[in-house]
Parts: sequence; structure tokens; C-alpha cells
Amino acid sequence: MTVTNGVNSVNGVHGGKKDGFGTRAIHVGSEANTETGAVIPPISLSTTYKQEGVGKHKGYEYSRSGNPNRNALEETLASLESGGSFALAFASGSATTATVLQSLGPGAHIISVNDVYGGTFRYMKRVAEENQGLQTTFVDLEGADDAMVLTAFRDNTKLIWIESPTNPTLRLIDIPRIVSLARSHPSNPLVLVDNTFLSPFFSSPILLGADIVVHSLTKYVNGHSDVVMGALILPEHHAALATKLRFLQNAIGAVPSPYDCWLAQRGAKTLHLRMKAHGVNALAVAKALKHSPYVEDVIYPGLASHPRNDLAYRSLSPHARKFVESLPKDPEGFPYGGMISFRIKGGAEEADKFLTAARLFTLAESLGGVESLAELPAEMTHGSIPEAERAALGIGSNLVRLSVGVEETEDLVADVEQALETAVNRK
Ligand SMILES: *Cc1c(COP(=O)(O)O)cnc(C)c1O
Repeated sequence: MTVTNGVNSVNGVHGGKKDGFGTRAIHVGSEANTETGAVIPPISLSTTYKQEGVGKHKGYEYSRSGNPNRNALEETLASLESGGSFALAFASGSATTATVLQSLGPGAHIISVNDVYGGTFRYMKRVAEENQGLQTTFVDLEGADDAMVLTAFRDNTKLIWIESPTNPTLRLIDIPRIVSLARSHPSNPLVLVDNTFLSPFFSSPILLGADIVVHSLTKYVNGHSDVVMGALILPEHHAALATKLRFLQNAIGAVPSPYDCWLAQRGAKTLHLRMKAHGVNALAVAKALKHSPYVEDVIYPGLASHPRNDLAYRSLSPHARKFVESLPKDPEGFPYGGMISFRIKGGAEEADKFLTAARLFTLAESLGGVESLAELPAEMTHGSIPEAERAALGIGSNLVRLSVGVEETEDLVADVEQALETAVNRK
């Protein structure tokens, strides 16, 4: 069956003018209920739908193939990811990854950024390679020059997998450069961007030429650390690919619950407000870390001192650029997402002390929620990477990763400063 599925290049368009990001976040996919007038979409838990005659129905048959809450969320996401026309939601970011990689079929080759999300690496190597013969070449897509990237291409290269910034060392990939390399090669692979870290607010990869955008909605899009979910978004010219992936979404069946879709849609309504606050707070914390005598090195692409700061600026989405330019000019940098990594002076002991001395930064994995979190990648999120590889990626035992939340800026800065003082100066 065909379900109206986020084919909404017309949605959010009013009198010929497209509504802004925040307006679309609140209104697209959230039209008042025609039966009751309810302003907020009701949660529709029914797994099945009455048919008036065989095959005669209102667009819904069985909840795995489509339900009102998932469709509503998919409409919101297709509208928020600028340049998007089709969105498909899945039970997790990982289920989204799995479905995309399965769609490539047997014996395909892909190129992936070398410090890809751990779960994505695991799926590529331990599941797709072992079960569908997928070959993956991991390339430092930040550091490698064009010729080096091109040597990784093969006749059967079907996809290039990008994350930018990468996790946890926040390397920036020049998406338009990789897109033009892909287009220049006869194998002409699809370019996919996992846009989880910046969210549709700070980055619009489709406008930079990407074919597929993937999100772990678990992070910024839902934003309240209470839903695990994922999604992919495609531009209008990929209608055939959207149909194929829609088929796999239903056939594989890794679909989210209506309740989770409702929660994620509610979260997405404030994405623009939260991302601005995450960005402003992260810049303030990054500056405090930079000025601290207890910090060796701060990695935040929004800092003017970051080696790829100009690329960060160039790669801002149109709506994020408008926001950044509305702020008073700061010679030290601009907001660029909410993630920071830093190397504390000393080693594992100081890092551990910092993580337990922080009051507002909760020691926990994950990211993107309203509350601030801190973690030690070498032991936690990236603990499964062999030590030599970790060292090559710059993930030492004193590297701390912060997910800066939306609490009051001065409280977060004060918390980081007191935790550094306790960890390094008063040990
Ligand atoms: C968390 C995350 C994923 C996986 O998403 P889940 O919802 O946890 O399955 C994929 N990519 C990135 C960058 C992530 O941070």
C-alpha cells in the first residue's frame, strides 16, 4: 500500500514563501486534528485499521507499514532536514544504519570515514561483512588528499559514509569535496551523512550534495534522553531509492512505536531553541576550557583557534548561519553544536577526578539531551577500540567528552572550572 509519507516539498510553504526552521518544527506534521480539533496529534496505538470494503481504507492497514504518529513525525523530519522530501523513521539509529547497508545488497563495497560511530563500525564489520559480504575501506576523509581518497574507490563502490564532526575528536569532513569526488568517479557512489552530532539545525548535508542523511533521533532531535529512535531523509530526486527503503522499513520491520514517534515529534518542536542554547553554552564552556591552566587542549570546531574553523563556518546550514550572524561578533568563535572534547592536564587519574567532581555534568554515555553529560571515551564509548587504534585517533586516557546541555551558561562554566580545580590543582 502507499502511505502518504513525508512527500512534503510543499509543506511549510505559505503564500509561495517557505516558513522558517522553527515554524516548520512546530507546524509541519502537526496540523490540528480534523475530527476533534485537538491541536496536538493524538497518540494512535491501534495496530490495525477497519476497511470499508476489501482494500478500501483511509491509507492505513497495519501499523508496521504505517501509522498516524510515525507518518506525522516523518513529515516533520522531511521538512526540518533542509532539501529533504522523504523521511523514514526506525526503531533506533542503528536500525536505520542496518537498513541502509542491507539495501546495498551482496558483495558491495563502501568507503567510510575512519572514526565512524562505534556501533556503525561494528555493524559494517561484524554484521554486514560477515553476512552480506560487504567490503569497507576506512579512510581519513579529513586528512587524505583527493588522490588518496580516489584510490579507495572500486568498481562496486556503492556508498560513502560520512560523519562530521566525528566522535569524539570532532574532525570535520568537507562534504562538498567528498560529493564531487564521488561524482567524478565512474562508480558514482551515494554519499551518506550521519548528521546526528549537528542535527538538522546546524547542518544541512542535502544542500551540500548528500544523497542520504541519517540521524540517531535518540540524541538532539528528541533531545530529552527518553527515546531511542533513528531516521533517514532523502531529497526529491531519490524517489526510487525512497520507495526501496520504504519497502525495507516494512519488510525488515525495525520500526518505532507510535508513542515514541509522538515523543520525538514533541521534542523536535523545540529543536531550534535547544540547538541555539546548546551552541551558546558550548562556546562559553569551550572558551573557559581554552583559558584554563588545567587544560592541555580543547577541541570545539566553533573556536577560532580550531584548525578547521573556516570549514565549520562554511558548512553551517542557512538557518544556523543566520543565527550565528545575529549574535554580537566574538573574535574567539561562534556556536557550532553542543559537543566538546578536551584533554585535561595529567592523565587518567585527573580525568576520572574531573568526571566525579562535576556537579551538573552527569557522568554518562550518550549526548544531545537538555542535561549536560560528560564521559571518558577511552574507557566508555570507545572502550572496544584496540588501544593502538585509539592512540592513532587521538583518544588518550585524558580525553574527556562533554555534551553541553541547555542549563544556565554561567552555572555550566562555573561547574567546569570548579571540577578542573578539584581534579588538577587540589589532588
Ligand atoms: C548514537 C549514535 C548512533 C546510533 O544510534 P542509536 O539510536 O543509539 O542506535 C549513530 N550515529 C551516531 C553519530 C550516534 O551518536
